[in-house]
Amino acid sequence: RPVRLPIDLGHTTYDIVIGTDLISRTGALLAPLLPQKRVIIITDENVARHHLPKLHAALRETDIQFRTLTVKPGEHSKSFATYERLIDSILEEGVERKTTIIAFGGGVVGDLAGFIAASTLRGLPFVQIPTTLLSQVDSSVGGKTGINTRWGKNLVGAFHQPLCVLADVSTLSTLPHRELVAGYAEIVKSGLIADPALFEWCEKNGEALLDGDPETQAEAIRRACAFKARVVADDEREQHSSGGRALLNLGHTFGHALEAELGYDGRLLHGEGVSIGLRLAFMLSVKLGLCPAQDLERVTAHLKRLKMPAQIRDLPYSFRASDLMAHMQRDKKMQDGQLSFVLVHGIGQAFTSRNVPAETVHQVLLDDG
Ligand code: NAD
Ligand code: ZN
Repeated sequence: RPVRLPIDLGHTTYDIVIGTDLISRTGALLAPLLPQKRVIIITDENVARHHLPKLHAALRETDIQFRTLTVKPGEHSKSFATYERLIDSILEEGVERKTTIIAFGGGVVGDLAGFIAASTLRGLPFVQIPTTLLSQVDSSVGGKTGINTRWGKNLVGAFHQPLCVLADVSTLSTLPHRELVAGYAEIVKSGLIADPALFEWCEKNGEALLDGDPETQAEAIRRACAFKARVVADDEREQHSSGGRALLNLGHTFGHALEAELGYDGRLLHGEGVSIGLRLAFMLSVKLGLCPAQDLERVTAHLKRLKMPAQIRDLPYSFRASDLMAHMQRDKKMQDGQLSFVLVHGIGQAFTSRNVPAETVHQVLLDDG
């Protein structure tokens, strides 16, 4: 039986529905919510191959009219070119203010389709059907949508909240194991930020989750979405100067530097960078005397036991600490040799700091690389 997690942002409310075999019930789940019995599905080739026939069959059981636009899999599709091609095709076929856009795929499809929904005719209704663990626990919650530019990732976009999110764990059975692990890193991150009970739950259940147990996956998604929804409800537009949504970047400054060093070419998945970045954030916090060493050991033990990337030296590529530093300094607009970072006082106790000495960060990279 699906679980419904209500999200209340004050100006809008919607449900995240989590369960098994939801795709085949999409018609029934969506029909009461759609302002018009017309939808446009946006998906990628991988998701289309594995799961689109089931979604089509489910919609055919109802009187919902649909058409489908498919993009190539991968980060490259979050581009101006794809955005333009899809909007052209949507307008060419005709679209009305009440036609709903359905994002059916991972975070790439969610961000792209969400931005198309946010901007076409100044805003169309939008539904997320996330099909990767990462998108089920992270990118489908919070309303951020967007595309990449030559100047950087996610620099053009909009906040656009969905009518509902359907997280069907059955779709995860076809997801490559590496992608599953990468999504799991974001769940671990949530626990480490401010939900120590979630991290403890991960220590007990992480293995079953990565082995593909649907019940455990659904429970993890419920807990991680509840966590992210609390943070987002408190700081929907990322306006808090400290804490708030910024805490969701725990491990990400390091992770992004690793991804960027490899040119975002997919050799390192985002969640793999985050996995290593989480441990580096704990190392940095320990080195600054802010966090007990036992907490770092607990994090390291968990990542290693689940065979997640834990150290830079676990990766089959070599990185120079000075190159990684250069990325972070550019990213962060360093002031007076100080960087801003999400640090921890311990497991579940993250905070934002604006004055981390660049020298200490460099030392941590040298220790780990
Ligand atoms: P993705 O969408 O690229 O999906 C990963 C791969 O899995 C792709 O090859 C895809 O085709 C394939 N795939 C998807 N579902 C599948 C399934 N069920 N079975 C088999 N293959 C499947 O990547 P992702 O990790 O889901 O998302 C990453 C994106 O999310 C990035 O662009 C990132 O910027 C964005 N993101 C956005 C937010 C946000 O708040 N909006 C938050 C985090 C990440
Ligand atoms: Zn992330």
